[in-house]
Amino acid sequence: MLYLILFGAPGSGKGTQSDLLVNKYQLTHLSTGDLLRKEIASGSNLGKEIDQYISKGNLIPDQLMIDILSKTMDTYSESKGFILDGFPRTVQQAEALDTMLETRENANAILVNLEVEKQELINRLLKRGETSGRSDDNLETIQKRLEVYESKTKPVNEHYKAKQQHAHIDGMGTVEQIFERIEKAIQHII
Ligand code: ATP
Ligand code: MG
Repeated sequence: MLYLILFGAPGSGKGTQSDLLVNKYQLTHLSTGDLLRKEIASGSNLGKEIDQYISKGNLIPDQLMIDILSKTMDTYSESKGFILDGFPRTVQQAEALDTMLETRENANAILVNLEVEKQELINRLLKRGETSGRSDDNLETIQKRLEVYESKTKPVNEHYKAKQQHAHIDGMGTVEQIFERIEKAIQHII
């Protein structure tokens, strides 16, 4: 089973490219951001707790995120494979995923790193903020999210580079151009 980790800074296009990949390869798209926003929208106490982190641009605690993700993955036991969008976002989450995959047969993980210039990320997120209604798509929170990405998330790249389960993608250009680059990078394992 393929575990395709779509990785990149906030606004790097993970959600957009996930939709294209899902259509073409029938993988199950798991976006941790979407899962968390659904929990917030439900009005639950857990959702209220999660909202405190997200609206400030912080990550939610690792163990909470790992529990939510592994529970969700278990509900898709029939799946051909997964696109993980937004997970792992810390080295601790990457290590937890390693452990989860050890117990699954034929688990094949690859991290696809979408690299986008910082100013372009900010432009895309501000533009999205005009219509997304997301509490974290404003300049102050965007800057915080980019800092968190640099300090906590970027090291996840090295984790997968060291395991040689890594592809680097130029994430600047049109949606179609970037999709073609991803396809080229994954065609040997998909
Ligand atoms: P993109 O625009 O590329 O889809 P994003 O960073 O804008 O990425 P989401 O992936 O939707 O947006 O995440 C939104 C927020 O949800 C994060 O800022 C964080 O607070 C929380 N979150 C999502 N995934 C995780 C995770 N794996 N661990 C901890 N917190 C997470
Ligand atoms: Mg997203």
